[in-house]
Amino acid sequence: MQSYNSFRVAQQQIFEAAKLLNLDEATIKLLTSPQKEFNFTLHVKMDSGKTEIFQGYRIQYNYARGPAKGGIRFHPDETVDTIRALACWMTWKTAVVDLPLGGAKGGVCCNPKKMSERELENISREYVRAIASSIGVDKDIPAPDVYTNPQTMAWMMDEYETIINQHHPGAFTDKPTQIGGTEGRRDATARGGVITVREACKKLGVNPTGKYAIQGFGNAGQRAALLHQEILGGGKLIAASDSRGAIFNSEGFDTKELVQYKLKNGTIADFPNAKKIPHESLLELDVDILYPAALENAIHDGNAENIKAKIVCELANGPTTPEADIILSNRGIQVIPDILASAGGVTVSYLEMVQDRYSFFWDEQSIHKIVDEKLTKAYHRVDEAVRDKKVHPRLGAMVVGVARVAEACKLRGWV
Ligand code: NAD
Repeated sequence: MQSYNSFRVAQQQIFEAAKLLNLDEATIKLLTSPQKEFNFTLHVKMDSGKTEIFQGYRIQYNYARGPAKGGIRFHPDETVDTIRALACWMTWKTAVVDLPLGGAKGGVCCNPKKMSERELENISREYVRAIASSIGVDKDIPAPDVYTNPQTMAWMMDEYETIINQHHPGAFTDKPTQIGGTEGRRDATARGGVITVREACKKLGVNPTGKYAIQGFGNAGQRAALLHQEILGGGKLIAASDSRGAIFNSEGFDTKELVQYKLKNGTIADFPNAKKIPHESLLELDVDILYPAALENAIHDGNAENIKAKIVCELANGPTTPEADIILSNRGIQVIPDILASAGGVTVSYLEMVQDRYSFFWDEQSIHKIVDEKLTKAYHRVDEAVRDKKVHPRLGAMVVGVARVAEACKLRGWV
Protein backbone atom coordinates (compact mmCIF):
# COMPACT_ATOMS: atom_id res chain seq x y z
CA MET A 1 0.00 0.00 0.00
CA GLN A 2 1.36 3.43 -0.85
CA SER A 3 1.52 6.10 1.87
CA TYR A 4 -0.88 9.01 1.74
CA ASN A 5 -0.91 12.64 2.62
CA SER A 6 -4.55 12.82 3.75
CA PHE A 7 -4.87 16.50 2.90
CA ARG A 8 -3.72 15.93 -0.69
CA VAL A 9 -6.38 13.23 -0.95
CA ALA A 10 -9.00 15.63 0.48
CA GLN A 11 -7.97 18.35 -2.01
CA GLN A 12 -8.15 15.91 -4.92
CA GLN A 13 -11.72 15.06 -3.93
CA ILE A 14 -12.60 18.78 -4.02
CA PHE A 15 -11.06 19.20 -7.50
CA GLU A 16 -13.17 16.31 -8.79
CA ALA A 17 -16.41 17.66 -7.28
CA ALA A 18 -15.59 21.21 -8.46
CA LYS A 19 -15.14 19.97 -12.04
CA LEU A 20 -18.59 18.36 -12.01
CA LEU A 21 -20.06 21.57 -10.56
CA ASN A 22 -18.20 23.87 -13.00
CA LEU A 23 -16.83 25.97 -10.14
CA ASP A 24 -14.61 28.94 -11.00
CA GLU A 25 -10.94 29.15 -10.13
CA ALA A 26 -11.32 31.48 -7.11
CA THR A 27 -13.96 29.26 -5.53
CA ILE A 28 -11.79 26.18 -6.04
CA LYS A 29 -8.82 27.97 -4.47
CA LEU A 30 -10.94 29.01 -1.49
CA LEU A 31 -12.39 25.54 -0.98
CA THR A 32 -9.03 23.76 -1.23
CA SER A 33 -7.43 25.99 1.46
CA PRO A 34 -8.11 26.16 5.20
CA GLN A 35 -9.52 29.56 6.21
CA LYS A 36 -7.72 29.75 9.57
CA GLU A 37 -5.02 27.64 11.17
CA PHE A 38 -3.67 27.77 14.69
CA ASN A 39 -0.41 25.96 15.52
CA PHE A 40 0.78 26.25 19.09
CA THR A 41 2.94 24.62 21.70
CA LEU A 42 1.45 23.45 24.97
CA HIS A 43 3.62 23.40 28.08
CA VAL A 44 2.18 20.89 30.46
CA LYS A 45 3.17 20.05 34.04
CA MET A 46 3.58 16.27 34.28
CA ASP A 47 3.21 14.16 37.42
CA SER A 48 7.01 13.88 37.61
CA GLY A 49 7.17 17.64 38.27
CA LYS A 50 8.79 18.23 34.86
CA THR A 51 7.24 20.33 32.11
CA GLU A 52 6.70 18.69 28.74
CA ILE A 53 6.07 20.48 25.46
CA PHE A 54 3.40 19.19 23.06
CA GLN A 55 2.36 20.41 19.61
CA GLY A 56 -1.28 21.53 19.33
CA TYR A 57 -3.40 22.42 16.30
CA ARG A 58 -6.81 23.88 15.59
CA ILE A 59 -7.90 24.36 12.00
CA GLN A 60 -11.10 26.20 11.04
CA TYR A 61 -11.36 24.95 7.50
CA ASN A 62 -14.41 26.84 6.26
CA TYR A 63 -17.12 28.78 8.10
CA ALA A 64 -19.26 30.11 5.25
CA ARG A 65 -22.34 28.15 6.41
CA GLY A 66 -21.92 28.80 10.14
CA PRO A 67 -19.47 28.48 13.04
CA ALA A 68 -16.74 25.90 12.47
CA LYS A 69 -17.34 22.52 14.12
CA GLY A 70 -15.18 19.48 14.73
CA GLY A 71 -13.42 17.27 17.23
CA ILE A 72 -10.08 17.37 19.02
CA ARG A 73 -7.83 14.28 18.86
CA PHE A 74 -5.07 13.32 21.23
CA HIS A 75 -2.84 11.03 19.17
CA PRO A 76 0.93 10.49 18.90
CA ASP A 77 0.87 10.38 15.07
CA GLU A 78 -1.02 13.64 14.58
CA THR A 79 0.31 15.96 11.88
CA VAL A 80 -0.92 19.27 10.57
CA ASP A 81 -1.93 17.59 7.32
CA THR A 82 -4.11 14.95 8.99
CA ILE A 83 -5.84 17.71 10.96
CA ARG A 84 -6.28 19.77 7.76
CA ALA A 85 -7.83 16.81 6.00
CA LEU A 86 -10.15 16.01 8.91
CA ALA A 87 -11.20 19.69 9.17
CA CYS A 88 -11.86 19.75 5.44
CA TRP A 89 -14.00 16.59 5.60
CA MET A 90 -15.97 18.10 8.52
CA THR A 91 -16.88 21.02 6.23
CA TRP A 92 -18.52 18.70 3.68
CA LYS A 93 -20.01 16.49 6.41
CA THR A 94 -21.93 19.34 8.09
CA ALA A 95 -23.05 20.52 4.64
CA VAL A 96 -24.19 17.06 3.46
CA VAL A 97 -26.58 16.79 6.42
CA ASP A 98 -27.49 20.46 5.90
CA LEU A 99 -26.47 21.80 9.30
CA PRO A 100 -25.81 25.56 9.68
CA LEU A 101 -22.17 24.88 10.54
CA GLY A 102 -18.72 24.92 8.98
CA GLY A 103 -15.88 22.47 9.51
CA ALA A 104 -12.93 22.36 11.92
CA LYS A 105 -10.64 19.88 13.64
CA GLY A 106 -7.96 20.04 16.31
CA GLY A 107 -5.39 17.81 17.81
CA VAL A 108 -2.46 17.38 20.13
CA CYS A 109 0.53 15.15 19.41
CA CYS A 110 0.66 13.13 22.60
CA ASN A 111 0.21 9.57 23.78
CA PRO A 112 -2.81 9.57 26.10
CA LYS A 113 -2.29 5.87 26.89
CA LYS A 114 0.90 6.88 28.73
CA MET A 115 -0.61 9.84 30.60
CA SER A 116 -2.34 10.00 33.98
CA GLU A 117 -5.81 11.47 34.49
CA ARG A 118 -4.25 14.61 35.97
CA GLU A 119 -1.86 15.03 33.05
CA LEU A 120 -4.77 14.66 30.62
CA GLU A 121 -6.69 17.32 32.52
CA ASN A 122 -3.65 19.63 32.41
CA ILE A 123 -3.19 19.17 28.67
CA SER A 124 -6.93 19.73 28.02
CA ARG A 125 -6.98 22.98 30.01
CA GLU A 126 -3.72 24.18 28.45
CA TYR A 127 -5.17 23.53 24.98
CA VAL A 128 -8.13 25.81 25.76
CA ARG A 129 -5.87 28.52 27.20
CA ALA A 130 -4.00 28.51 23.88
CA ILE A 131 -7.08 29.04 21.67
CA ALA A 132 -9.80 30.49 23.92
CA SER A 133 -10.08 33.78 22.05
CA SER A 134 -10.61 32.00 18.72
CA ILE A 135 -13.31 29.52 19.72
CA GLY A 136 -16.83 29.86 21.14
CA VAL A 137 -20.44 29.14 20.35
CA ASP A 138 -20.51 31.61 17.44
CA LYS A 139 -16.97 30.92 16.16
CA ASP A 140 -15.80 27.35 16.54
CA ILE A 141 -17.22 24.55 18.67
CA PRO A 142 -14.91 21.62 19.54
CA ALA A 143 -16.04 18.08 20.41
CA PRO A 144 -14.25 14.82 21.28
CA ASP A 145 -12.55 12.59 18.73
CA VAL A 146 -10.06 9.74 18.97
CA TYR A 147 -8.77 9.37 22.58
CA THR A 148 -10.77 12.33 23.90
CA ASN A 149 -14.19 11.98 25.52
CA PRO A 150 -16.99 13.79 27.43
CA GLN A 151 -14.68 14.22 30.45
CA THR A 152 -12.16 16.02 28.20
CA MET A 153 -14.98 18.33 27.06
CA ALA A 154 -16.05 18.97 30.68
CA TRP A 155 -12.50 20.13 31.57
CA MET A 156 -12.25 22.20 28.40
CA MET A 157 -15.65 23.84 28.88
CA ASP A 158 -14.81 24.63 32.50
CA GLU A 159 -11.50 26.25 31.51
CA TYR A 160 -13.20 28.24 28.74
CA GLU A 161 -15.98 29.50 31.03
CA THR A 162 -13.39 30.46 33.65
CA ILE A 163 -11.48 32.49 31.05
CA ILE A 164 -14.55 34.33 29.69
CA ASN A 165 -16.23 34.50 33.12
CA GLN A 166 -19.60 33.39 31.75
CA HIS A 167 -21.59 30.22 31.23
CA HIS A 168 -21.30 29.12 27.58
CA PRO A 169 -21.92 25.37 27.61
CA GLY A 170 -22.68 25.32 23.87
CA ALA A 171 -19.03 26.20 23.15
CA PHE A 172 -18.15 22.47 23.46
CA THR A 173 -20.32 19.50 22.59
CA ASP A 174 -20.54 15.89 23.72
CA LYS A 175 -20.32 17.03 27.34
CA PRO A 176 -21.76 14.93 30.17
CA THR A 177 -25.54 15.47 30.38
CA GLN A 178 -25.23 16.88 33.93
CA ILE A 179 -23.46 19.96 32.56
CA GLY A 180 -25.29 20.73 29.33
CA GLY A 181 -24.76 17.59 27.27
CA THR A 182 -27.58 16.04 25.29
CA GLU A 183 -29.36 12.74 25.35
CA GLY A 184 -28.60 10.53 22.37
CA ARG A 185 -24.99 11.64 21.71
CA ARG A 186 -23.20 8.45 22.71
CA ASP A 187 -24.71 6.35 19.96
CA ALA A 188 -25.34 9.15 17.45
CA THR A 189 -22.52 8.39 14.98
CA ALA A 190 -23.34 4.70 14.83
CA ARG A 191 -27.09 5.41 14.69
CA GLY A 192 -26.61 7.69 11.68
CA GLY A 193 -24.47 5.06 9.97
CA VAL A 194 -26.94 2.25 10.57
CA ILE A 195 -29.79 4.44 9.27
CA THR A 196 -27.86 4.96 6.01
CA VAL A 197 -27.28 1.18 5.83
CA ARG A 198 -31.03 0.63 6.26
CA GLU A 199 -31.69 2.96 3.29
CA ALA A 200 -28.94 1.36 1.19
CA CYS A 201 -30.29 -2.17 1.89
CA LYS A 202 -33.75 -1.08 0.73
CA LYS A 203 -32.34 0.48 -2.42
CA LEU A 204 -29.97 -2.37 -3.34
CA GLY A 205 -32.12 -5.26 -2.17
CA VAL A 206 -29.45 -6.40 0.32
CA ASN A 207 -30.63 -8.53 3.24
CA PRO A 208 -30.43 -6.19 6.28
CA THR A 209 -30.46 -9.12 8.70
CA GLY A 210 -27.54 -10.97 7.11
CA LYS A 211 -23.92 -11.10 8.31
CA TYR A 212 -21.88 -8.08 9.32
CA ALA A 213 -18.37 -7.31 10.60
CA ILE A 214 -16.91 -4.37 12.47
CA GLN A 215 -13.29 -3.18 12.32
CA GLY A 216 -12.58 -1.07 15.45
CA PHE A 217 -14.63 -1.90 18.52
CA GLY A 218 -14.46 1.54 20.15
CA ASN A 219 -17.28 3.97 20.77
CA ALA A 220 -18.64 3.99 17.20
CA GLY A 221 -18.02 0.27 16.58
CA GLN A 222 -19.66 -0.98 19.79
CA ARG A 223 -22.73 1.15 19.25
CA ALA A 224 -23.00 0.01 15.63
CA ALA A 225 -22.90 -3.61 16.81
CA LEU A 226 -25.95 -3.03 19.02
CA LEU A 227 -27.88 -0.62 16.81
CA HIS A 228 -27.47 -2.73 13.69
CA GLN A 229 -29.70 -5.37 15.26
CA GLU A 230 -32.08 -2.84 16.82
CA ILE A 231 -32.66 -0.69 13.73
CA LEU A 232 -32.42 -3.38 11.05
CA GLY A 233 -34.36 -5.97 13.05
CA GLY A 234 -31.57 -8.57 13.30
CA GLY A 235 -28.25 -9.53 11.73
CA LYS A 236 -25.29 -11.69 12.75
CA LEU A 237 -22.09 -9.96 13.88
CA ILE A 238 -19.55 -12.58 12.81
CA ALA A 239 -16.31 -10.63 13.35
CA ALA A 240 -14.97 -7.65 15.25
CA SER A 241 -11.57 -6.20 16.04
CA ASP A 242 -9.74 -3.65 18.12
CA SER A 243 -6.10 -2.59 18.14
CA ARG A 244 -5.15 -5.73 20.15
CA GLY A 245 -6.78 -8.34 17.88
CA ALA A 246 -9.56 -9.57 15.61
CA ILE A 247 -12.07 -12.33 16.45
CA PHE A 248 -14.52 -14.46 14.46
CA ASN A 249 -17.54 -16.64 15.22
CA SER A 250 -19.55 -18.02 12.29
CA GLU A 251 -22.65 -18.35 14.51
CA GLY A 252 -22.57 -14.65 15.35
CA PHE A 253 -21.64 -12.95 18.62
CA ASP A 254 -24.04 -11.96 21.35
CA THR A 255 -23.43 -8.24 20.78
CA LYS A 256 -24.45 -7.13 24.30
CA GLU A 257 -22.09 -9.67 25.83
CA LEU A 258 -19.26 -8.59 23.53
CA VAL A 259 -19.72 -4.91 24.43
CA GLN A 260 -19.81 -5.77 28.15
CA TYR A 261 -16.62 -7.80 27.74
CA LYS A 262 -14.86 -4.92 25.97
CA LEU A 263 -15.91 -2.45 28.65
CA LYS A 264 -14.70 -4.76 31.42
CA ASN A 265 -11.45 -5.96 29.84
CA GLY A 266 -10.47 -3.06 27.58
CA THR A 267 -10.16 -5.39 24.56
CA ILE A 268 -12.14 -8.09 22.76
CA ALA A 269 -9.01 -9.99 21.70
CA ASP A 270 -9.49 -12.77 24.29
CA PHE A 271 -13.28 -13.05 24.12
CA PRO A 272 -14.24 -16.70 24.79
CA ASN A 273 -15.84 -18.89 22.08
CA ALA A 274 -14.16 -16.94 19.32
CA LYS A 275 -11.50 -17.78 16.78
CA LYS A 276 -8.62 -15.30 16.57
CA ILE A 277 -8.05 -14.12 13.00
CA PRO A 278 -5.45 -11.80 11.46
CA HIS A 279 -6.49 -8.13 11.51
CA GLU A 280 -6.46 -7.83 7.71
CA SER A 281 -8.69 -10.85 7.11
CA LEU A 282 -11.64 -9.31 8.97
CA LEU A 283 -12.09 -6.86 6.12
CA GLU A 284 -12.14 -9.67 3.55
CA LEU A 285 -14.81 -11.86 5.17
CA ASP A 286 -17.94 -12.94 3.33
CA VAL A 287 -20.42 -10.52 4.92
CA ASP A 288 -23.31 -8.39 3.69
CA ILE A 289 -22.23 -5.29 5.54
CA LEU A 290 -18.79 -4.12 6.68
CA TYR A 291 -18.30 -1.26 9.12
CA PRO A 292 -14.75 0.17 9.17
CA ALA A 293 -14.74 2.04 12.50
CA ALA A 294 -11.03 2.42 13.34
CA LEU A 295 -8.54 4.71 11.58
CA GLU A 296 -7.66 5.93 8.07
CA ASN A 297 -6.66 3.90 4.98
CA ALA A 298 -7.85 0.47 6.21
CA ILE A 299 -9.18 -0.44 2.74
CA HIS A 300 -6.48 0.10 0.12
CA ASP A 301 -5.37 -1.07 -3.32
CA GLY A 302 -3.83 -4.17 -1.72
CA ASN A 303 -7.07 -5.53 -0.25
CA ALA A 304 -9.96 -3.82 -2.10
CA GLU A 305 -10.15 -6.66 -4.66
CA ASN A 306 -10.76 -9.10 -1.79
CA ILE A 307 -13.58 -7.23 -0.05
CA LYS A 308 -16.75 -9.33 -0.21
CA ALA A 309 -19.22 -7.06 1.60
CA LYS A 310 -22.09 -5.67 -0.46
CA ILE A 311 -22.19 -2.46 1.58
CA VAL A 312 -19.25 -0.72 3.28
CA CYS A 313 -20.45 1.80 5.85
CA GLU A 314 -17.59 4.15 6.75
CA LEU A 315 -18.03 5.05 10.39
CA ALA A 316 -14.33 5.94 10.57
CA ASN A 317 -12.98 9.05 8.88
CA GLY A 318 -11.13 8.26 5.65
CA PRO A 319 -10.93 4.43 5.92
CA THR A 320 -10.83 3.91 2.12
CA THR A 321 -7.98 5.14 -0.10
CA PRO A 322 -8.80 6.78 -3.48
CA GLU A 323 -7.55 3.74 -5.44
CA ALA A 324 -9.64 1.40 -3.30
CA ASP A 325 -12.68 3.60 -3.87
CA ILE A 326 -12.43 3.04 -7.62
CA ILE A 327 -11.85 -0.70 -7.22
CA LEU A 328 -14.88 -1.08 -4.93
CA SER A 329 -17.04 1.03 -7.22
CA ASN A 330 -16.02 -1.04 -10.29
CA ARG A 331 -16.86 -4.20 -8.37
CA GLY A 332 -20.37 -2.89 -7.58
CA ILE A 333 -19.76 -2.59 -3.84
CA GLN A 334 -21.73 0.28 -2.34
CA VAL A 335 -19.54 2.47 -0.12
CA ILE A 336 -21.50 4.78 2.15
CA PRO A 337 -18.85 7.52 2.45
CA ASP A 338 -17.68 8.85 5.80
CA ILE A 339 -19.01 12.37 5.25
CA LEU A 340 -22.49 10.83 5.10
CA ALA A 341 -22.21 7.61 7.14
CA SER A 342 -20.62 9.19 10.21
CA ALA A 343 -22.60 12.46 10.17
CA GLY A 344 -25.00 11.36 12.94
CA GLY A 345 -22.48 12.46 15.59
CA VAL A 346 -22.17 16.04 14.42
CA THR A 347 -25.95 16.16 13.88
CA VAL A 348 -26.56 15.44 17.56
CA SER A 349 -23.73 17.82 18.53
CA TYR A 350 -25.62 20.51 16.66
CA LEU A 351 -28.81 19.57 18.57
CA GLU A 352 -26.78 19.88 21.78
CA MET A 353 -25.74 23.44 20.81
CA VAL A 354 -29.36 24.34 20.08
CA GLN A 355 -30.52 22.97 23.45
CA ASP A 356 -27.69 24.77 25.27
CA ARG A 357 -28.73 28.06 23.66
CA TYR A 358 -32.32 27.56 24.80
CA SER A 359 -31.38 26.06 28.16
CA PHE A 360 -34.11 23.53 27.50
CA PHE A 361 -33.49 19.84 26.85
CA TRP A 362 -35.36 17.25 24.80
CA ASP A 363 -35.84 13.55 25.51
CA GLU A 364 -33.88 10.85 23.72
CA GLN A 365 -36.70 9.82 21.39
CA SER A 366 -37.00 13.37 20.01
CA ILE A 367 -33.26 13.37 19.25
CA HIS A 368 -33.40 9.95 17.57
CA LYS A 369 -36.30 11.11 15.39
CA ILE A 370 -34.40 14.16 14.10
CA VAL A 371 -31.26 12.08 13.42
CA ASP A 372 -33.35 9.58 11.46
CA GLU A 373 -35.01 12.31 9.39
CA LYS A 374 -31.75 14.19 8.67
CA LEU A 375 -29.70 11.11 7.77
CA THR A 376 -32.44 9.55 5.64
CA LYS A 377 -32.85 12.80 3.73
CA ALA A 378 -29.08 13.18 3.30
CA TYR A 379 -28.73 9.57 2.06
CA HIS A 380 -31.34 10.14 -0.65
CA ARG A 381 -29.93 13.55 -1.62
CA VAL A 382 -26.51 11.94 -2.14
CA ASP A 383 -28.08 9.06 -4.06
CA GLU A 384 -29.78 11.59 -6.33
CA ALA A 385 -26.41 13.27 -7.02
CA VAL A 386 -24.83 9.85 -7.71
CA ARG A 387 -27.50 9.10 -10.32
CA ASP A 388 -27.52 12.62 -11.74
CA LYS A 389 -23.74 12.91 -12.17
CA LYS A 390 -23.14 9.16 -12.73
CA VAL A 391 -20.39 9.04 -10.11
CA HIS A 392 -19.47 6.81 -7.15
CA PRO A 393 -21.08 7.65 -3.78
CA ARG A 394 -18.10 9.50 -2.27
CA LEU A 395 -18.01 11.88 -5.20
CA GLY A 396 -21.81 12.16 -5.06
CA ALA A 397 -21.60 13.18 -1.38
CA MET A 398 -18.78 15.62 -2.16
CA VAL A 399 -20.86 17.19 -4.92
CA VAL A 400 -23.72 17.80 -2.46
CA GLY A 401 -21.45 19.20 0.29
CA VAL A 402 -19.15 21.26 -1.94
CA ALA A 403 -22.11 22.78 -3.85
CA ARG A 404 -23.73 23.97 -0.61
CA VAL A 405 -20.51 25.49 0.75
CA ALA A 406 -19.65 27.10 -2.61
CA GLU A 407 -23.11 28.66 -2.73
CA ALA A 408 -22.69 30.10 0.79
CA CYS A 409 -19.28 31.56 -0.16
CA LYS A 410 -20.81 33.16 -3.25
CA LEU A 411 -23.81 34.60 -1.37
CA ARG A 412 -21.44 36.17 1.15
CA GLY A 413 -19.53 37.80 -1.69
CA TRP A 414 -16.29 35.96 -0.92
CA VAL A 415 -15.89 34.82 -4.51
P1 NAD B 1 -12.39 5.01 19.71
O1 NAD B 1 -11.03 5.43 20.11
O2 NAD B 1 -13.45 4.87 20.74
O3 NAD B 1 -12.32 3.61 18.95
C1 NAD B 1 -11.39 3.27 17.98
C2 NAD B 1 -11.22 1.75 18.05
O4 NAD B 1 -10.42 1.33 16.95
C3 NAD B 1 -10.52 1.27 19.32
O5 NAD B 1 -11.24 0.16 19.85
C4 NAD B 1 -9.14 0.80 18.82
O6 NAD B 1 -8.65 -0.27 19.60
C5 NAD B 1 -9.52 0.34 17.43
N1 NAD B 1 -8.38 0.25 16.52
C6 NAD B 1 -7.31 1.07 16.37
N2 NAD B 1 -6.49 0.60 15.42
C7 NAD B 1 -7.06 -0.54 14.94
C8 NAD B 1 -6.69 -1.48 13.95
N3 NAD B 1 -5.59 -1.33 13.25
N4 NAD B 1 -7.53 -2.52 13.73
C9 NAD B 1 -8.67 -2.66 14.42
N5 NAD B 1 -9.05 -1.82 15.37
C10 NAD B 1 -8.26 -0.76 15.63
O7 NAD B 1 -12.84 6.02 18.55
P2 NAD B 1 -14.31 6.24 17.96
O8 NAD B 1 -14.87 7.44 18.60
O9 NAD B 1 -15.08 4.97 17.97
O10 NAD B 1 -13.92 6.64 16.46
C11 NAD B 1 -13.58 5.65 15.50
C12 NAD B 1 -13.53 6.30 14.13
O11 NAD B 1 -14.78 6.91 13.87
C13 NAD B 1 -12.49 7.43 13.98
O12 NAD B 1 -12.02 7.42 12.64
C14 NAD B 1 -13.28 8.67 14.24
O13 NAD B 1 -12.69 9.82 13.65
C15 NAD B 1 -14.59 8.28 13.56
N6 NAD B 1 -15.73 9.06 14.03
C16 NAD B 1 -16.15 8.96 15.32
C17 NAD B 1 -17.22 9.75 15.74
C18 NAD B 1 -17.76 9.64 17.14
O14 NAD B 1 -18.77 10.30 17.43
N7 NAD B 1 -17.20 8.82 18.01
C19 NAD B 1 -17.83 10.63 14.85
C20 NAD B 1 -17.40 10.69 13.54
C21 NAD B 1 -16.33 9.89 13.14
